[in-house]
Amino acid sequence: MSTIAFLNIPMHGHVNPTLPVVAELVRRGHSVTYHIAPAFSKEIEAAGATVCLYPEADRPLADPPMPVTMIEGLTRTAVDLLPGVLSELRDIRPDLIVHGSACLWAAVAARELGVPAASLFTTFAYNRYVPSPTGASWKLLAAAAGRPRTVLDYVRARRRLRRRYDIRGLPPLDLLNVRQPLNLVFTSRDFQPGAGAFDESFQFVGPSLGARPADPSFPVDRLRAPVLYASLGTVFNAGPQVLRTFAAALSPLGGTVVIATGETDPAALDPLPDNVIAHRFVPQPEVLARAALFVTHGGMNSANEAMYAGVPMLVIPQGADQPLVARRVVELGVGLAISTRDTGAELVHALAKRLLDEPRFRAAADGLQVAQREAGGYQRVADELERYLHRAGRVSRPAPADSPQER
Ligand code: UDP
Repeated sequence: MSTIAFLNIPMHGHVNPTLPVVAELVRRGHSVTYHIAPAFSKEIEAAGATVCLYPEADRPLADPPMPVTMIEGLTRTAVDLLPGVLSELRDIRPDLIVHGSACLWAAVAARELGVPAASLFTTFAYNRYVPSPTGASWKLLAAAAGRPRTVLDYVRARRRLRRRYDIRGLPPLDLLNVRQPLNLVFTSRDFQPGAGAFDESFQFVGPSLGARPADPSFPVDRLRAPVLYASLGTVFNAGPQVLRTFAAALSPLGGTVVIATGETDPAALDPLPDNVIAHRFVPQPEVLARAALFVTHGGMNSANEAMYAGVPMLVIPQGADQPLVARRVVELGVGLAISTRDTGAELVHALAKRLLDEPRFRAAADGLQVAQREAGGYQRVADELERYLHRAGRVSRPAPADSPQER
């Protein structure tokens, strides 16, 4: 059995897919530690890892959240955290370090300690079809030109990092894209644009979906086919107006319409048609398992979960990587996309009707469902990590058999 140290940045999108992986590794008898900020300690402990807390930061990681502040924030945080993290890891003596692809300090620590490391990508892996937001570009340069203070802070932090540690080979700017000899991407090869361009170090493992605690407050027994589900995720706040638009557009096509309202009080949508259930937080995988259609912002987790359930999507991207997800959904024929400014009830109704009536969308969704499931999810991640440990001579028991994708 091995000791595996996870390190991550404190963001839900980066941490969530790692939780079933941690639980699986613990189930297989490995000892797992997890460096993270206090806000995440409960769920990580519940997954079975020993939590190692970063000290509370006196500045946010990226403020405002944009690539140029992220580059500065990750570099500054690496300088701040590394002395403590290194001393804890020296005590833990991990056989393997596993980190989010933005966790610069984990990559530096792995080098300092001479420990093999693997990187986890929770969105697409970056290439010429999917440019990394922190990759060198005119857009990044223009943003940097408008934030001289951030640039100066970055240069200072990078200089300190370079003086204290061996950072050769680590990207100077592209800090959302820290690669290792093993890179695991939480989607399927089919969904990744240009998957063929990646070398063997990249493995597309599909969504990492574990069992979630049941939510007795959600009335699953009221769901009638066809179930139409709408959610704009947990980060971008969907106001009452757009949620009412979803209700008006979808209710004539249901079955039951389920609307995740997030920050918006469901009462703010009243009166709603009888067949609409508005709930702040919906047990999404459970509802998707019964759904015929998903109106979504196209967050990577949501898109992965929809494909895993074989559900066509109407994507209304709000920001971040969502326009890229929307483009890929349309390219693969598993859904349609519109921009927020076009989100009127008539258009949403017409597109939802097409998605329900035209069998090609369901057929494409069925194809992607197979790809997402065959990618292997958290069990495949655990297999890949065990194989990597074995290759690195860090484990005594035999490596797991090759996954179906490699045979
Ligand atoms: N989610 C959920 N219920 C909700 C809203 C969201 O379970 O009512 C979950 C969803 O299953 C997914 C995550 O929250 O795992 C949202 O992640 P995603 O990357 O799609 O979007 P974000 O919220 O980060 O924008």
